[in-house]
Amino acid sequence: RGVEEGWSESDGKWERAAVIVKELEEKCGTPVWKLRQVADAMVAEMHAGLASDGGSKLKMIISYVDSLPTGDEKGLYYALDLGGTNFRILRVHLGGKERGIIKREFEEVSIPPHLMTGSSNELFDFIATALAKFVATEGEDSRPFPGRQRELGFTFSFPVRQTSITSGTLIKWTKGFSIEDAVGEDVVSELNKAMERVGLDMRVAALVNDTIGTLAGGRYYNPDVVAAVILGTGTNAAYVERIHAIPKWHGPLPKSGEMVINTEWGNFQSSHLPLTEYDQTLDDESLNPGEQTYEKLISGMYLGEIVRIVLLRMAEESALFGDIIPPKLKIPFILRTPDMSTMHHDTSSDLTVVGEKLSYLLEISDTTLRMRKVVVNVCGIVATRGARLAAAGIFGILKKLGRDTVMDREKQRSAIALDGGLFEHYTKFRDCVEGTLRELLGPEVADNTVLVLSEDGSGIGAALLAASHSQYLQTE
Ligand code: BGC
Ligand code: MG
Repeated sequence: RGVEEGWSESDGKWERAAVIVKELEEKCGTPVWKLRQVADAMVAEMHAGLASDGGSKLKMIISYVDSLPTGDEKGLYYALDLGGTNFRILRVHLGGKERGIIKREFEEVSIPPHLMTGSSNELFDFIATALAKFVATEGEDSRPFPGRQRELGFTFSFPVRQTSITSGTLIKWTKGFSIEDAVGEDVVSELNKAMERVGLDMRVAALVNDTIGTLAGGRYYNPDVVAAVILGTGTNAAYVERIHAIPKWHGPLPKSGEMVINTEWGNFQSSHLPLTEYDQTLDDESLNPGEQTYEKLISGMYLGEIVRIVLLRMAEESALFGDIIPPKLKIPFILRTPDMSTMHHDTSSDLTVVGEKLSYLLEISDTTLRMRKVVVNVCGIVATRGARLAAAGIFGILKKLGRDTVMDREKQRSAIALDGGLFEHYTKFRDCVEGTLRELLGPEVADNTVLVLSEDGSGIGAALLAASHSQYLQTE
């Protein structure tokens, strides 16, 4: 075996490698009791964040959305969804209860990386230009009512301090964006100015976070939806709160008695989180050190990078990949989460896919099965920790809502709308989120709790919210 595996068993390298993996596994451990502590800490922070602005690392942002779609929404609306590496533009024709969504057209545009760290004007000009081009494709049947201004639901997936349903200032960037001059600015007026510059006449009728859009889109299809969670490039959750449970709300009492809250849970921090030296390294090298701690443990932007950092450490300390440290392995973010997922799902007995990935991506060739197994192992540990922590967060929200126990034998059904590439495409991650939530809820409550994948929930949701906040009466 020693020959086939590359190293002899006696040279101690495997022992060192095994120790590193074992330590990683221990430090990343998420037994149920620990997840309960995490969920309880989350609930405590939610209370603190609702009590006062700045009361917690959980911002618990008031969305100014106090009623969710009913199905009566009618008319033609645009939506813009900006938040990851792509942005999407939609045109949706809503037909009310009878006709539902009559037509939807969309376009996806990838954001040139230099715009993610450039200036505010450059980014918003790029967006407005793409939007104007899309608007120009309006056909006879896809034009707003004669004489009406076009209206837009703007999904902006970063922490924004909302000042109304149509305005809000950017608190900070996340997920690899860093455009200094936009911080503190009203993102709607930034977009308005850019639309003016390109000669586009359109009114932002609703500014929403992607979690809020997903919640609205989810509720449109399923009345049981009470919360929305994004597991994608970043992570976050929103839910429907009772207005009386929001001490920091001093505005008028909404008719519904409710208010949707954007938790911004990506910034959650707690001594109960299983952090390692690898997470410290990731945080140090990130664009936003000390921030988005929970997000850095869970979301798609970071999982692959954590794996890379672990593998690099193993290459350095146990010569996992031989005497020379593979140079590519030193490049931050070279191992993306989709690649990690592909390796993690390799079902071939000799892990051929893992071998190919290591060779194409990292230029590590001639790997042995034993090395490839270590890599898969590391992917499993990192993904499992992230997925179980995400489940703890969902459990925390259900707890806050009092939906974590069986109520008086009366069955209470809860649905949570889920969106994001990580949940959608990383099967083992998704299965682990679902399984862990079941573990935390127990079978009886779990049977009445569903995670529903929303297909483009945030885009449709933003269009629906634009409709319910239209300047025109919702009749036609
Ligand atoms: C942002 C949130 C967003 C989430 C998912 C996080 O980085 O702070 O506003 O909802 O990513 O897109
Ligand atoms: Mg999105």
